[in-house]
Amino acid sequence: MTAFDVTIIGAGLAGLQCAKLLAGKGRTVLLVDRKSDLTKGIHTTGIFVRKTFEDFSFPAGTLGQPIRNVVLYSPCLRALPLESKQDEFRVGKMDVLYRSLLRECIDKGVEFSDSTRFVSVDKHRHENIVKLERTGRSFDVAAKVLIGADGAASAVARSLGLDENKEWIVGYEEVYRVRRSNAEPCLHCFLDSRLAPGYLAWIADDGEDIHIGVGGYPAGFKPREALKQFKEKVWGNFIGSRNAELIETRGGRIPVGGVLRRIANENGLLIGDAAGAVSPLTAGGLDPCLRLSAFAAKVVEKRLTTDDPATMLEFSGDVFRARFISRFWMRRIISACTNQALLELGCLVLRGRIGKKLAEHVFFGRGSFPDIELADVMRPNARVPSI
Ligand SMILES: Cc1cc2nc3c(=O)[nH]c(=O)nc-3n(C[C@H](O)[C@H](O)[C@H](O)COP(=O)(O)OP(=O)(O)OC[C@H]3O[C@@H](n4cnc5c(N)ncnc54)[C@H](O)[C@@H]3O)c2cc1C
Repeated sequence: MTAFDVTIIGAGLAGLQCAKLLAGKGRTVLLVDRKSDLTKGIHTTGIFVRKTFEDFSFPAGTLGQPIRNVVLYSPCLRALPLESKQDEFRVGKMDVLYRSLLRECIDKGVEFSDSTRFVSVDKHRHENIVKLERTGRSFDVAAKVLIGADGAASAVARSLGLDENKEWIVGYEEVYRVRRSNAEPCLHCFLDSRLAPGYLAWIADDGEDIHIGVGGYPAGFKPREALKQFKEKVWGNFIGSRNAELIETRGGRIPVGGVLRRIANENGLLIGDAAGAVSPLTAGGLDPCLRLSAFAAKVVEKRLTTDDPATMLEFSGDVFRARFISRFWMRRIISACTNQALLELGCLVLRGRIGKKLAEHVFFGRGSFPDIELADVMRPNARVPSI
């Protein structure tokens, strides 16, 4: 049986980032994903906020044009334009980014196993026996630490006996490649309790690609049907004249219950969506993927250096939860707005001076996920300090 310091399940942004950092420290890392090709079946829109592209350097060619303008629409399409003097958002070219990060991982010595499914884990104090399956063939590997980066419905969380996500919204979108690019890059957000119950509908237009999507709480929400109706409502005004070609559909669950409490034990830990590391307010999970993975890499590095499994318990969700209280409350308020007239009224308030300041704070503030001292781990030559 092959033995590794660390086995990471899931090669999304969280798993790739963590694998890269640990391999950079000279650790033996096995990274597995059930996909045969990481560039297929992408589920995220890929909007990175300013805080992320300021703090982390991205491989060349992986980010789209900067977006400075946001327009927030009421259910009756009354617009509240918000403009920043800085670049606020960039839509990631996620296929290029995943491919590029995987190449970096492999260059650093990560062993990658595609088309490989996590089945279960046998836990022992100083070692895990991780059971995997590749094209119908079962095999085991030994790993001192097992990391679950396997998304919102994490099988690793269940197998390790850690907390699991219980609250989520569902997002679904279509991606169009634009042939005629004359519009200023803009993020359009639509409040509509019928088309996007408890969340938003969106059009993210960076001049090259247009993502049009809806998100909402799953009870009674039919994302495909909602997107069809949303397109009927907005297509002519926003996309109709752009000669746009449908290139992809994306979708999936987004956990919005906040970082889970028990995200580590002596055998392993959770990162990314598996840990519930998504802003409960904005449902943005990409920035948290990078920051939590950096913190996880520090904890795992310490556990391997000291050979003390108890060190893993320093990776606790309680460190983060307290920082999310105001966002929890704002999520509660938004999810309670099930009435169109109430939403229309809320949008009217937002058009006032104080309301607009609040909206600007939500869209342009630098507060998506708590900093964990390691803002620049993705920069070239950056070192991962010990805790
Ligand atoms: C429609 C939609 C739009 C979104 N838009 C944005 C956005 O614009 N900005 C933003 O910040 N956030 C956004 N999010 C949230 C963000 O995409 C996620 O928080 C982030 O991608 C999570 O990354 P991850 O690496 O934790 O998980 P994932 O990207 O889900 O990766 C998990 C990986 O694990 C693999 N896997 C799962 N189970 C197994 C198994 N049993 N065995 C082996 N492999 C397995 C999967 O194949 C996958 O590759 C969006 C989410 C959705 C659904």
